[in-house]
Amino acid sequence: MPIHEKALLAPEQVLQADKLVVDGVDVSGHWNTMILPRTLTDYDEDFEKTIQAYGGGENVHRCWQCGSCTNSCTMYAINIDFNPRYWIYLVRLGLKDELLKDKDIIWQCVSCNKCTNICPKDVRPEGVMKAIQHWMEDQGYVSKAPSTLFDEEFTRQCLERGRIEDSEVLLNFFKQTRQNLWQLATRGWLGIFVARMNKWTELKKGRIGHYLARMPILMPLAMAWHLVFKPRTRSWGRTGEILRRYVEEQKRIAHG
Ligand code: SF4
Ligand code: SF4
Repeated sequence: MPIHEKALLAPEQVLQADKLVVDGVDVSGHWNTMILPRTLTDYDEDFEKTIQAYGGGENVHRCWQCGSCTNSCTMYAINIDFNPRYWIYLVRLGLKDELLKDKDIIWQCVSCNKCTNICPKDVRPEGVMKAIQHWMEDQGYVSKAPSTLFDEEFTRQCLERGRIEDSEVLLNFFKQTRQNLWQLATRGWLGIFVARMNKWTELKKGRIGHYLARMPILMPLAMAWHLVFKPRTRSWGRTGEILRRYVEEQKRIAHG
């Protein structure tokens, strides 16, 4: 695969004469750019297959580098270093070291799937981002991302009881990510979220009638009840255990 990434060029490989006239034509500056060849030896030719073995990475080989994923990406809009097209390119070339330079931001993919919807080759870039993240975690390049911890808690409850309890997922997620629940509730986004959900703005405005009429009562009670008694899906039986074995078997097949 030819290299066409500016990021992979060392400055000393790019030659340019500030002043140059050839046959009477002024070709100063970038008009006379020459790029010295670079021979890569530090690539892993099996890396594409490694990423394909992770859930979501299966179609990475289909990418034709159109860039639509990056153009539509929610994260790219706020940080131009977040570049799914480029990371897919590095996976295909087997340039792990280059990819690892961005190891601290790849996990920030918010799974909005705009990239997946727009991709003309069904690469499913969102899945590739997850596959890269899981590979980095397995290899110990990064610690488990918050999204992985969330997925694990979600899956644990599904397998154990055949259902999830939102409040339990969130509580355990906060514990796993060592977030201070009290601070989040009193000064962070959680407090704002709960206040809006419970229409506390009405109460602040002194509109007690509106507040009582709109305040959800049954839902928080049901959540608290489920948090204590942890109901299971009826007839769940050994289904969770069988699913768990299936997942482990698939992981063994995928990663040898
Ligand atoms: S949109 Fe699809 S084909 Fe285009 S660069 Fe992104 S992953 Fe590749
Ligand atoms: S799913 Fe991730 S990579 Fe795709 S557009 Fe959203 S933030 Fe970007």
